[in-house]
Amino acid sequence: MTSSSGGPSPTQTQGKSACMHDPANLDEKLRIEDLRSFNILDTPAEQAYDDVVSLASYICDTPIALISLVDEDRQWFKARQGLSAMETPRGQAFCAHAIVEPDKVLEVPDALLDARFLDNPLVTGDPGIRFYAGAPLLTPSGAALGTVCVIDRVPRKLTERQSLALQALSRQVVQLLALRRANAELELVAKAQTLRQQQLENHQRRIEELNQDLQEQTLTDPLTALKNRRAFDTLLANEFARSQRSKSPLCLLMVDADHFKAYNDAFGHVAGDQALMFIALAIKSQARAYDHVARYGGEEFCVILPDTKLNEALLVAERIREAIKGIIGLRRPMTGSIGVAYSEGVNSPKRLVELADNAMYLAKQGGRDRVELFLPPI
Ligand code: GH3
Ligand code: MG
Ligand code: MG
Repeated sequence: MTSSSGGPSPTQTQGKSACMHDPANLDEKLRIEDLRSFNILDTPAEQAYDDVVSLASYICDTPIALISLVDEDRQWFKARQGLSAMETPRGQAFCAHAIVEPDKVLEVPDALLDARFLDNPLVTGDPGIRFYAGAPLLTPSGAALGTVCVIDRVPRKLTERQSLALQALSRQVVQLLALRRANAELELVAKAQTLRQQQLENHQRRIEELNQDLQEQTLTDPLTALKNRRAFDTLLANEFARSQRSKSPLCLLMVDADHFKAYNDAFGHVAGDQALMFIALAIKSQARAYDHVARYGGEEFCVILPDTKLNEALLVAERIREAIKGIIGLRRPMTGSIGVAYSEGVNSPKRLVELADNAMYLAKQGGRDRVELFLPPI
């Protein structure tokens, strides 16, 4: 475990040559890198490693057994039996000698008879080490990270079978360490994948939001925020098909602001725009949640009334007419002419629009500010 006489520790090897490119220095640098890659130093005790030292102590019949990892300037014990210290300085470590020959068990039958260890304070003092045997933890890269070692307070020797068992335990520890590193790497990969997945999902969501915004923009009239002509065409086609399928009534209103050109001419285009916004609000205020209000173009608006009979549509149209007339805040009162069309006997959405348009012109001809229904000749 420890030695005051030093031995061929890497520190001493460095002392022999100041050259940083000394192969021994390089090996030691790689060995430390290898050790660090396992992320094992200063981790809490774990049952699997504790079991190994229990077995080592039992098999070799020693009071002390350790899993020692030889760090730059210390040896740190991942598991220990019969010893309370967590770590000791590397300069005194028996294990630092053991790892010099990674494929051999270092056995010191009597430390007091070994020049390398006889004046080691842990040999001369507490805990009075006399016997040491350490099987290096040899990794696939060829580096020895430390040892599985057993210690006794009396001189002795391992049997051949005990020595082989100590080596087998050492290989088991290397397996445990390799598994630990592989698991950590897998966790990292999984984390990276989760992160990437989240980023992709966020990206996807953002794209969908942007697409939705874009779609909204292409279907919305910028001045009034009502559905635009393009949206209206689609909505009417859908509602018309649905009404035919389910044999439910469908009505369409065409609302045209009266003498709007004159309003523009009198108060300017900006006031005209403002009036259009008010008219849009007035119409919207009279529509139900499932009706569709659209700006058909210029000062013309359409209202699609699904599941609505003609008499109900006429009432809605009348309410809209009143609402336009009642708009507050205009430069002068505004009126609207409203044409109503009913889907019964009508064979296309286009025809329904034509009928609503004809009805609206009837309202104009009839003196404006009125609701009209156009009944086509049978
Ligand atoms: P009628 O009662 O017969 O419908 O007369 P009118 O003046 O309302 O109809 P006309 O078709 O002669 O004029 C429509 C006017 O609506 C002309 C146009 O400049 C105006 N207009 C169309 N779109 C807009 C708009 O977005 N903003 C403003 N301020 N005016 C618009
Ligand atoms: Mg018009
Ligand atoms: Mg008009």
